[in-house]
Amino acid sequence: MAFLTEPEPQRGVALPVLDGIRRIVARNPSVMTYLGTNTYLIDGPDGLTVLDPGPDDDEHVADILRALDGGKLPRIVLTHTHSDHLGATAKLQAATGAEVYAYRISAKPGFEPDKPLDDGDEVAGLKAVFTPGHAADHLSFEFLVPGTGKILFSGDHVMSWSSSIVSPPDGDMVAYYKSLNLLLGRDEILYAPGHGPLLPEPRELVAELLSHRQSREASILEALREREWTVADLAEHLYHKTDFRLKMAAQRNVLAHLLKLEHDGKVVQVNGQKASALPGDHVPDDLPPGNEKDVSKAQRNMMWEDSARRFAYAG
Ligand SMILES: [Zn+2]
Repeated sequence: MAFLTEPEPQRGVALPVLDGIRRIVARNPSVMTYLGTNTYLIDGPDGLTVLDPGPDDDEHVADILRALDGGKLPRIVLTHTHSDHLGATAKLQAATGAEVYAYRISAKPGFEPDKPLDDGDEVAGLKAVFTPGHAADHLSFEFLVPGTGKILFSGDHVMSWSSSIVSPPDGDMVAYYKSLNLLLGRDEILYAPGHGPLLPEPRELVAELLSHRQSREASILEALREREWTVADLAEHLYHKTDFRLKMAAQRNVLAHLLKLEHDGKVVQVNGQKASALPGDHVPDDLPPGNEKDVSKAQRNMMWEDSARRFAYAG
């Protein structure tokens, strides 16, 4: 696929992106987050907005405050509540008194936005477009940039540098397909993603992402016509990843495809039993999605059990 790369950005500085839009790239580079999370500073009709405060990192919060240069921050807007986007929110809010806007039903236990947003709601020139799939509470935002035209802050739904992980139950492949199709029918000329550089001619990549998923789905169905597979074995068969985190990401994507195929009536799960206990020593902290440091033992157990789920062709 036609993914983009960019040189490592200057750290700790708000770099100009487009007229009235700057970006601070957080210091959380990884195989899941590219060079780091993009925190956008957007000048709008009602003052400044920070879109996605980024990970819980004091240095990053200090970088954002320095970029504000003593100016007021009336609001923080979130594309979704994964920790590499939400993490710095509480500290930034405490330092600035900003109100937090996010999708009305939070996928993060314990987090509630001050100002819940729904599809079509508008705040400071940012118009919310509900795009679940990567995350159940994912919003993209349409924004008109003077002299450029309509752009979309696409969060982690569509990124310039990589495809997105779809990790159930927060991630949902049925919703992801639907949200990609939704973007194919829209007319923004440029996407500003949650990770990576600006994406020109964005619908070309959206179409590629969709056809990539469809061919992956076809390969999964073909493999299942031959025999039953566990999630782990099928991910190994299809992805050949060696890095542990990418291996886990591949398993989450395969499971998401299998659950979509189950939803479509094409496959069935054939075992309900739990996998054996989690071998804690072999599981690093930074499991997908994002480079979450706060993946709980329960979530890790869930991922481990999911890897042993076995599926068969429904005929
Ligand atoms: Zn992210």
